[in-house]
Amino acid sequence: MLKGIGASQGYGIGKAVLIKDINLDYSKVRYSDAATEKERLKNAADEFIKETQTLCESLKESAGSKEAEILEGHIMMLNDPFMLSQMNDNIDNGFVAEKAVDTVCNMFIDMFSATDDELTNQRASDVKDIKDSLLKILLGVETVDISNVAAGSVLVAKDFTPSMTSQINSENVSAIVTEVGGVTSHSAILARAMGIPAVLSVIDATKKISDGQDIIADGFLGEVITDPSTQEFDSYRAKQSDYIKQKDSLKAYIGKETITADGVKKAVYANIGRPEDVQNVLQNGAEGIGLFRTEFLFMDRNTEPTEEEQFEAYSTVARAMNGQEVIIRTLDIGGDKDIPYLKIEKEENPFLGHRAIRYCLDNRELFKKQIRAILRAAVYGYIKIMLPLITCIDEVNEAKAVIKECEAELAESGTEYKSVPVGIMVETPSAVFISDLLAQEVEFFSIGTNDLTGYTMAVDRGNSKVSKLYDAMQPSVLRAIEITIKSAKKAGIQVGMCGEAAADPRLIPKLIEWGLDEFSVTPSSILQTRKIICEYKA
Ligand code: PEP
Ligand code: MG
Repeated sequence: MLKGIGASQGYGIGKAVLIKDINLDYSKVRYSDAATEKERLKNAADEFIKETQTLCESLKESAGSKEAEILEGHIMMLNDPFMLSQMNDNIDNGFVAEKAVDTVCNMFIDMFSATDDELTNQRASDVKDIKDSLLKILLGVETVDISNVAAGSVLVAKDFTPSMTSQINSENVSAIVTEVGGVTSHSAILARAMGIPAVLSVIDATKKISDGQDIIADGFLGEVITDPSTQEFDSYRAKQSDYIKQKDSLKAYIGKETITADGVKKAVYANIGRPEDVQNVLQNGAEGIGLFRTEFLFMDRNTEPTEEEQFEAYSTVARAMNGQEVIIRTLDIGGDKDIPYLKIEKEENPFLGHRAIRYCLDNRELFKKQIRAILRAAVYGYIKIMLPLITCIDEVNEAKAVIKECEAELAESGTEYKSVPVGIMVETPSAVFISDLLAQEVEFFSIGTNDLTGYTMAVDRGNSKVSKLYDAMQPSVLRAIEITIKSAKKAGIQVGMCGEAAADPRLIPKLIEWGLDEFSVTPSSILQTRKIICEYKA
């Protein structure tokens, strides 16, 4: 049995599908002659175009024409005689086909990244995709098509990036197992959002588990059993069927008002990372979105999303929620969330470094682009802005001034927008200590127990060696939560919690007692959380 961290509840029983890291190193490829290299390049380009056309057709049927248009753009770029002739020239100069592709594509990437125009920047990302695809074909690198794995697959990888996760079809994937990550890492958050059992931090999982092996992943205990015995299979099938029954019984809470047994009104909201997650939120009947982690829109790409792309994402969510509250958190990067193209300098202590609101205030254009997109999207629903990692009043005032500046610019250009309430995450001890003062400056609080637990206990939230201390039930963390709720109540502002502890059955009764208004949880925990609240009686 392999031990890891249970990061998303449920049992996955099936066959392992290993997702290996893609190695595009071509340093060992030897040059034969120009004609052979050109032939290899031509074959790879033909193959790329054929594969891309097939993908285009299926995308037109399933995901709509926008994604297909992007791929059609890739075909056009590669069909451009200039690109291919440049590659052939490089081959004439003694480069292998791989190096010719790499050199020419990098030249285009640098050129497209160097301008201030967002659409041109986007081209850089397209060329990077073309480059990777051509190199994969030339090097014969086999990649697993995650979206098309057989039913009952347990995906095993070093880590899952958001783009890998977005390809997962939850009908076919019965669990995921990774070598890295903790309960609050992005792969865990995404797995929970999709309701897929996950066991993370399994040391050497990709070496110890082989492709096609029978496997059971226990997302509660964080255990992985390879080659289970008949007895183990039977016992886990029984556990799985009990769990499914229990989940089915929770369906009674869909659309039910969240109100305690003694009549106090509360609300269960949901945490999302991508517009696609809203589907799951609506199915489970959340009363709002308490945290939209916008950094996921910035991950797995080579350039930052444009204002238009962000506007599209935020307004899609606002529309889908149909007038219910949508709390959009401004970019929260740094710490464990690296976005290479933003070129955040390596720091000795990234969790105490240039992250979240600190980074945004120092990178005004990026911050303003996001704020403008949010203010414009607010026309289509009930949006609020939430600022992450606040530690002092100055940060709030500075951010509010930026928001005002964006409003003035939008008004001046005649662009449609709406002013929105501004709130903060209380996730640092510093914010807790001055929560009475902060409550005078903002319209709501949301307690981020994931970071608050880490900063209060001085524990790195991703380090499994100190994970014993990482517990929101520690008296110091409980006091921090109580102080924050009381400050909000005294000032008469709304107070929610969007850290994972909001769904913790041990904590929910205390949160109700202290007066928490809104519990924002992962979509798969909405109904369980509502049930616990509805059964609560003082
Ligand atoms: C938190 O810190 O509790 C939180 C909700 O934010 P994140 O997990 O994205 O840091
Ligand atoms: Mg946080």
